[in-house]
Amino acid sequence: MHISDAVFLEDLCPKFRLRQWRKSIHKFTGKSCIYCGKPSESIDHVLPQSQGGLNTTENCVPACLSCNGDKSDENALQWYRRQKFYDPRRAMAIRAWLEGDLRLAIRLLQWANPKLNRNKRSYSDDENDYKAA
Ligand SMILES: [Zn+2]
Repeated sequence: MHISDAVFLEDLCPKFRLRQWRKSIHKFTGKSCIYCGKPSESIDHVLPQSQGGLNTTENCVPACLSCNGDKSDENALQWYRRQKFYDPRRAMAIRAWLEGDLRLAIRLLQWANPKLNRNKRSYSDDENDYKAA
C-alpha cells in the first residue's frame, strides 16, 4: 500500500494540490465515469474511507454521481457486477487501476469505449464505423 502517499497528500496538501490531484484522476479517463462511461462528476473511493480506504490514486476512481451514490460503501467490483451497464472490460480496467497499473486500465477503458479518444472526429467517421461493424 502507498501509505506514504496518503500522508503526503493529507499533510502537505494545500487545497491546490488536492485539486490538481483530483483533476489528474478525471483526466485519466477523459472525464468519464470508470463504471458507466457517463461524465465523471466525483471521485469514488473504491475501498470506502469508512473501511480504511486511502486517498491514493489506486483507490480513487472517477465516477459519476449516480454510480458513486448508488455504490455507497459496497465493494466496487461486487457492486459493479450487478449493474445493467456491466462490461467485463471495464471490470478489468477497474482491477488494473486498483493494482496501480493505470496504463493498462486506460487501455482497457478505451477498448470498452472507443469514442473516448475520438472527440475530435467528425460524425461521418462514426457513421463509417457503424457501417463496418
Ligand atoms: Zn457512472
